[in-house]
Amino acid sequence: MRVIWVLATLVVLVNAGTLKDPPKVRYDDYSVHRLSIRNKIQLSLINRLSELSDKFNVWKEYDEHSKQVDIMVSPAASRHFQLLLKLYGISSQLSIPNVQKLIDDEHVSSRDSGTFGWRQYHELAEIYEWLDNIVATYPTVTEEFSIGKSYEGRNIRGIKISHGANKPGIFIESNIHAREWITSATATWFINELLTSQKEEVRNLAESYDWYIIPVFNVDGFEYSHRSNRLWRKTRQPHATSKCIGVDGNRNFDSHFMENNGASADPCSETYAGEDPWSEPETKALADYLTSIKDKFDVYLSFHSYGQWLLSPYGHTAEEFPENYNDLLEIGAAFGSAIKNLVYSTDYVHGSTASVLYVASGSSVDWVFNELNKKVAYTIEFRDKGNFGFVLPPAQILANCEELMAGMVALIDKAHNLKYI
Ligand SMILES: [Zn+2]
Repeated sequence: MRVIWVLATLVVLVNAGTLKDPPKVRYDDYSVHRLSIRNKIQLSLINRLSELSDKFNVWKEYDEHSKQVDIMVSPAASRHFQLLLKLYGISSQLSIPNVQKLIDDEHVSSRDSGTFGWRQYHELAEIYEWLDNIVATYPTVTEEFSIGKSYEGRNIRGIKISHGANKPGIFIESNIHAREWITSATATWFINELLTSQKEEVRNLAESYDWYIIPVFNVDGFEYSHRSNRLWRKTRQPHATSKCIGVDGNRNFDSHFMENNGASADPCSETYAGEDPWSEPETKALADYLTSIKDKFDVYLSFHSYGQWLLSPYGHTAEEFPENYNDLLEIGAAFGSAIKNLVYSTDYVHGSTASVLYVASGSSVDWVFNELNKKVAYTIEFRDKGNFGFVLPPAQILANCEELMAGMVALIDKAHNLKYI
């Protein structure tokens, strides 16, 4: 066994030495299924399957609201999977028959134009080049910042947009989960709108507040999701004791770390919290940066996909709620109905992460809320509800952006009325 392992490692090393870009991971005939879970036995089966990470990958964990799980199944495990569903009486619906087809379609539409825009997804280098242009074009109201470097040495860059000193601040962190490409696409669009839109409500947002926006936070993971594995989620730092790589950055913050099964201790899991809080240079850099400007912002938002949720603290427990939970619900309702009123009529559900979705400990939003005492902090889970999941077609980018803007205007307006900002 050991010899095989050493040989396999050698093959990988030789390949890495001879090929510039190793072949991309393919998802031919990988399917995604939406399972309806009715009891604990069914749920424990799904949890056990998700530990076999080469065959099964949970796209959306079980939540009390929908009582559904989205799980991706490899073609090799498909027959076994169908038998297990029958045996355990789990009803299922095929939502994506072939994941590779979605990835190929996404790629096709991203090849047809050389300019930056929002009808396609862009790689990190293109996003950074665009940021350079933005800062050069709007030098009086923009300021570039860097929170530090990733494990692989990339700069984690952000932009501050300000129309005058000492306005209340809003901080946006985006793409902490690498495969959630819609988040950085939406964040860059939002930056562009703040700078170029002539709409009164957008001008008001842009000019009344200081904006701090990091469009791609997990830079290593994002690059890897473009070059090697479209469905990569975590950071890219290896572990001493496991062949699996990376940590779920959004479980790595030092707030109720690893409490109530809100993260995994298994380095191969998609929700691995890391050995200790701040084990990842990225999360440490963000926490240090946020601490250094903690008097300059009042609202914190973290962009994710998918599921169409607006989630407030707490993530680590569904038994307790923040003191200002009623206000958080009121702001959430304003966000949701503003989006619902658009032509797309898209539904967003709001509430605390642990009570309407699932327990998730050590998130950035909970850390900012609990440790920096910023009482308006949300995770936004963008489109969709699972038809495309993480591989949201580029044709939906702009609609998602419009929804974010409508929701953001209402959210900030309500937070302002409630005197949080
Ligand atoms: Zn996410």
